[in-house]
Amino acid sequence: MGNDKKVIFYLIDGARPDVLQSLVAKGELPNIKKYLFEEGSFQLGTTCFPSTTGPAYLPFLTGRFPGEHDITGIRWFDKEAYFKGRWQRNAMRSYCGYEAKYFNEDMNTDYPSLLEIYPENFNIYNMITKGVKEENDLTKKQKSKLYFNAHFKHTHHIVDEIGHAHLMHAIQNQFRFIFAVFPSIDWDSHTYHYEDERTIESYRIADRSLGEVITKLKELKQWDNTMIVMASDHGLTSTHTHLDLGRFFKKNKYRVLEYPSIWTLFPQVSVFISGNSFATLSFLDQKSLYYKPALYSKHAQVLDNLVREDAIDFIVMRNDESSLSVVNQEGEAHILIQDDTVAYKHISGNPFGIDETPGFLDAKETFDYCLYSDYPDALIQCKQLFDSKRSGDIAVSANVGFDLRDFWEIPEHKGSHGSLHKDHLHVPILLSKPILDHPIRTTEVFELIKQYLDGQ
Ligand SMILES: [Zn+2]
Repeated sequence: MGNDKKVIFYLIDGARPDVLQSLVAKGELPNIKKYLFEEGSFQLGTTCFPSTTGPAYLPFLTGRFPGEHDITGIRWFDKEAYFKGRWQRNAMRSYCGYEAKYFNEDMNTDYPSLLEIYPENFNIYNMITKGVKEENDLTKKQKSKLYFNAHFKHTHHIVDEIGHAHLMHAIQNQFRFIFAVFPSIDWDSHTYHYEDERTIESYRIADRSLGEVITKLKELKQWDNTMIVMASDHGLTSTHTHLDLGRFFKKNKYRVLEYPSIWTLFPQVSVFISGNSFATLSFLDQKSLYYKPALYSKHAQVLDNLVREDAIDFIVMRNDESSLSVVNQEGEAHILIQDDTVAYKHISGNPFGIDETPGFLDAKETFDYCLYSDYPDALIQCKQLFDSKRSGDIAVSANVGFDLRDFWEIPEHKGSHGSLHKDHLHVPILLSKPILDHPIRTTEVFELIKQYLDGQ
């Protein structure tokens, strides 16, 4: 026996919770204020590491972190596959180019997405299309041209307006679930600033869309049985300095494998960057993944140089089979892992700026433990990333204000995300039902939607 409940998900890409809140306070977003803040729920959420578009959609849609899908960034390198054959398809990936089409196939089939679970769906601009009938992927034909123009001519807002028109059309049909991406907040923030007037206008576009959608749902007598979810996949900070990580390794006399120059002869290190504030590194003089003692016995010099760079906040690597090492300029701490629990221990420093945990904490306890620190959910986020072999040997998190890619980036990025810093990790979670009274991980939004649609 089915029910007639529906969910419409507004993925407002790159929206910061504090910016959203202040716009609501100023009366700039009247529909979000009335229907989500006042009549529904607004809570702080935490996204994943890396806090990057694409991988950061996975928690919402599948309830699982990027590491659980082995999709550890918008670019990743798989050492094991690489040494089986450099040119085999799963040796490396960049979803930024023609390989974007592999994203769906790369997802872990153990964790089906809401679009697979609820086949009566519509999809707008989202690259995760598994489970979407071709005719219901409403922007399929227009997307590449619109995105191309948006990228090179900065025609951002029209993309959201067209998405909204599709959404208005979709809600007049039979459906259970709609996933609509509004990409302009992210694009404007990258191109201008996250509080630029043009970026603020992107928030207003989403607000006006929400108002029109709700008016239409009321007209169709579908409002009472519909839940709106509005959330973003990461925050964003403005960028003043680029450190090109590929060039850094070249200066340190390493031959570098990176996108797009993947043809380098006899590469010694692979540098894969996501969201521009996150990178994974793999050293190619050892076929298996490195643990810290062996890694430092061979590469201490370059790694010491790396963490001394102003652009680098910290690096993480496997310390041994049951711990990770986090290193910054000041020293080192360990994340100890025992089954699904984690502990944090200062060694010679405290890169996350949090107290040592009183023993091992489970996922819920560790969430509460560091939610309001500078690195929310840091312990579980590092664990999930390094559970995947595609984390590489090292994950690099950039300092706020810096990013890790310069030479290849056209147009220049003035905003970044991807890191584990709270300004990238904190996201707004809004629902049109008053059912959420505490901060959550974005993975938990998946469960909330399922519970609602399944009528519990
Ligand atoms: Zn994004």
